[in-house]
Amino acid sequence: MTDYKMIIDGKGVSTDETFPVLNPATEEVVAQCPKANEEHVNLAVAAARRAFPAWSATADSERSRVVHAIADALEAHSEELVKLLTLEQGKPAGGFAGLGGGFEMGGTVAWCHATADLELPVEVIQDNDEARIEVHRKPLGVVGSITPWNFPLLIAIWHTMPALRSGNTVVIKPSEFTPLTTLRAAEIINELLPPGVFNIITGDGSLGAAISSHPDINKMVFTGSTPTGKKIMQSAAVNLKRVTLELGGNDAAIVLPDTDVEAMAPKIFATAMMNNGQTCAALKRLYVHEDIYEDMCQALAAIASSVTTGDGSGDVDFGPIQNKAQFDRVCELAEEAKASGARFLTGGEVSDGPGYFYPVTIVADIADDTRLVSEEPFGPILPILKFSDVEDALRRANDSNNGLGGSVWSSDVQVATELASRLECGTAWVNSHAMIQPDAPFGGVKESGIGVEFGRYGLEEYTSIQTLNIARG
Ligand code: NAD
Repeated sequence: MTDYKMIIDGKGVSTDETFPVLNPATEEVVAQCPKANEEHVNLAVAAARRAFPAWSATADSERSRVVHAIADALEAHSEELVKLLTLEQGKPAGGFAGLGGGFEMGGTVAWCHATADLELPVEVIQDNDEARIEVHRKPLGVVGSITPWNFPLLIAIWHTMPALRSGNTVVIKPSEFTPLTTLRAAEIINELLPPGVFNIITGDGSLGAAISSHPDINKMVFTGSTPTGKKIMQSAAVNLKRVTLELGGNDAAIVLPDTDVEAMAPKIFATAMMNNGQTCAALKRLYVHEDIYEDMCQALAAIASSVTTGDGSGDVDFGPIQNKAQFDRVCELAEEAKASGARFLTGGEVSDGPGYFYPVTIVADIADDTRLVSEEPFGPILPILKFSDVEDALRRANDSNNGLGGSVWSSDVQVATELASRLECGTAWVNSHAMIQPDAPFGGVKESGIGVEFGRYGLEEYTSIQTLNIARG
């Protein structure tokens, strides 16, 4: 087993206490990971604070160059990082719709380069005989990042590259379920940075709580569940930390009667099942007009029957669910749906043996108040609901505390766009879903989060405004 170390102030740090990391396909322990305590949090935050003055004063062009160099270095280690991702997260390297480790690695490199190219120019509000007023963007200080287990590498990059690009220093804590890829990436990243600019410590939620309540951290960026996001927001209040919270989603899609079922079913399937359904903005509730309901159900069931699930190190479309608790939750929601009389078109049965494998499952004729519909399952299971009236479908789609994404599907793009704009969510798609890119802001409304990531809007969240008011005459 490889010896994994945390990195504090540029140096590898081991701990007496460790915790095991499992391969979700075999349930075997694949590594022991350092378990940090509060003292490690203090050391990491102090190192980040010491590194902040020099890093924030580094020329903008130099910070851009370093973030590009990080992209190149990570890309040079792609093979190793993708193997680690499969080992601890379970996703196949390729996988359905390319959303396995290969997608995560490719996205990592692409997002680094795009972030390196972002700029926050000074804005001139007024320039006349009375005064010149400029708006400057300044880094906040130390950024604390806490990541989940579904995209451990990509989300770490989403959190930390904008932080570095805009002149902040970082303390990151990956999920205790998937710390290995992030630890290895942090090692590679540290070779390109001054000591203390990028620190990584590992542990569970109690370590996360120590980070989010630390008085010397200036901003928290968090991706994970809504209950944890609420706790982080609460503890961030101790010193009025800025927060960006990317939380759960229970995205609805409305399929209008003029939709080309054969053409759209593969796209709908891919976006519902991306990363084995363990994607915050995956399509999770599918509302289909009664005229094409049965056709859509059968088309999706046919695709689901044609895919393979297995150990991600082999040639399969989908891997296991990442951890036992999530696996149990998916099983529980499915059993409740069965008991309610819902029609299972595929899947729904778990076979014996090691590994948290759940088959790709399509469920029809299910009521809105079933938990599989009203809660986010975060697994490879899609409920399909029927509607006859579009306004009713819109009301049901919006009847949720979540508001991450949503979509409308139709041959009439204008009609679909108008309806999509009435969805209560951070991103509304037409004839696609969960399509994200580095220059388009992404974030949730309602209980799906606060703030956005990506592009200029995302970068601004790592800064505060300083207004410079220069009187004339
Ligand atoms: P989680 O909230 O249980 O854990 C996420 C991280 O928070 C882990 O690193 C964990 O150690 C840490 N944590 C736990 N308790 C904490 C506390 N009290 N204080 C600080 N940190 C704490 O979430 P998860 O199970 O890892 O991820 C699944 C959930 O995340 C799903 O609900 C999913 O929708 C959501 N998610 C959202 C997005 C998004 O972009 N909106 C992306 C991925 C996942």
